[in-house]
Amino acid sequence: MRDGAQTHGVSFSLQDKLSIAQRLDDLGVRYIEGGWPGSNPKDMEFFKAIKKISLEDSEIVAFGSTRKKDITPKKDSILNALLETEVKTVVIFGKSWDLHVTEVLHTTLDENLRMVEDSIEYLKGHNLNVIFDAEHFFDGFKGDYEYALEVVKKADEAGAQVIVLCDTNGGTLTSDVQSIVKRTKAELKVPIGIHCHNDSGLATANTLMAVLEGASHVQGTINGLGERCGNADLCQVLPALHFKMGLRNLINNKPVSEQLKDLSSISKYVYELTNLPPNPYQPYVGKNAFAHKGGVHIDAILKQPRAYEHMDPFLVGNRRELSISELSGRASVMNMALRFGIKLDKQSQVVDKVLDEIKRMEAQGYHIEDADATVHLIFLKAMGYNLYPFKVQLWRVSTMKNDFKFTSGEVMVKVGDEVLYEASTGVGPVHALDQALRKALLKCFPQLKNVNLINYKVTVVDSASGTASTVRAFIEFKDDSLQWATTAISDNIIEASAMALIDGYAYRLIIDEIKKYTKNQENF
Ligand SMILES: [Zn+2]
Repeated sequence: MRDGAQTHGVSFSLQDKLSIAQRLDDLGVRYIEGGWPGSNPKDMEFFKAIKKISLEDSEIVAFGSTRKKDITPKKDSILNALLETEVKTVVIFGKSWDLHVTEVLHTTLDENLRMVEDSIEYLKGHNLNVIFDAEHFFDGFKGDYEYALEVVKKADEAGAQVIVLCDTNGGTLTSDVQSIVKRTKAELKVPIGIHCHNDSGLATANTLMAVLEGASHVQGTINGLGERCGNADLCQVLPALHFKMGLRNLINNKPVSEQLKDLSSISKYVYELTNLPPNPYQPYVGKNAFAHKGGVHIDAILKQPRAYEHMDPFLVGNRRELSISELSGRASVMNMALRFGIKLDKQSQVVDKVLDEIKRMEAQGYHIEDADATVHLIFLKAMGYNLYPFKVQLWRVSTMKNDFKFTSGEVMVKVGDEVLYEASTGVGPVHALDQALRKALLKCFPQLKNVNLINYKVTVVDSASGTASTVRAFIEFKDDSLQWATTAISDNIIEASAMALIDGYAYRLIIDEIKKYTKNQENF
């Protein structure tokens, strides 16, 4: 959590950190770095607040550094801030690269050794367990391996319980991690750990290699958050260690299979709290990690999932997605129909109609894969349902900018024989239109009262025409019992949005009835 908080663009509130700590505890993480009390006074609040929460598997540890040069540990504010947190275990980092000692700290190699030694001794003297992070160890080893080893041996003698070899700049290749960890392990009595940054895209590979060479303590972050390109992603490291390398008892000697089923969910949760968009391509936990698009792939997957999957997505709490796309065939249309509770016969004309419609839409620039309601509507239309309990006969928006901004929207909606006219102001044209539409619809359909728009995105489909380009609107809706999404495209941004809005409200109005009906039907 400490390294994750150093991610560009991420700022955790106190509550975020408390919530994440509890999720990490559920996952069974052994140690959670709660913060760096010496560098950030806000972190001290966390150590106070977390004491009131009981954790089952995790121990909260505080992070800091060796003392400053030329003073005694007792006078060092960072070491004393660590004591104030009242944790049982602390992590301190110290320099193991001569370049950092002489050119950054501007001190001597001997003084740095003393800093490592007496800082650890000071903390041990206050009954703390000490994990020592050997910062820049791999670069240090490549520069002056004798000195790098001297530093970690000093930490070992001073009583560190784990010595963590850090690839702080993230530039080390996996083959070098292998030889350096092997060589270092042979020199130390104490267990060793690994802390890898991802600047070469190798953080996970390097972490796994270190484990193969005997590291028994792994540091990482959820979703690979962290400084620059981030740290080793626990969402990749944990399933690899457990399912592929056979380390079955990662956590407090408990089998972890159950906890790892929480991995996709904790990944999403951390994205949500950090306000970062989830990475759909993230291995194991990403939305596309087990999504199949090609017709040949889908055909094979339906026969035997292992044909195109490296593991069962269920084990990490993810799920298989068979996307309907221009490549897909009848089998995937039928499979998609099942998702909506519709059983289609292989020979059914509905399958052809749906396939034709999807191909036509995709050629126009639609991405329908995320818009479940739009896909469902395609099926229902092909099955001959009347989809719209209302008809928007007219809509208009206007935006004026003078000394002030003024935007209004108006709609004319026909429900049965009744024609309703409503107008509203709004923040922008889409908002004004939505407000007017809701006003009209709520008169006849009060059940839409609790429907909220939770996501609204507009993407340019083809930018060649500049501001006259086709755009795709994507809207997510939610009410007390359902969440659904629609999409529409147009070369008019407001029209695309209006179409997606209208489909979204119509879908909510018809879906309960239709679900009841399609459930009892077979073989359309
Ligand atoms: Zn780091």
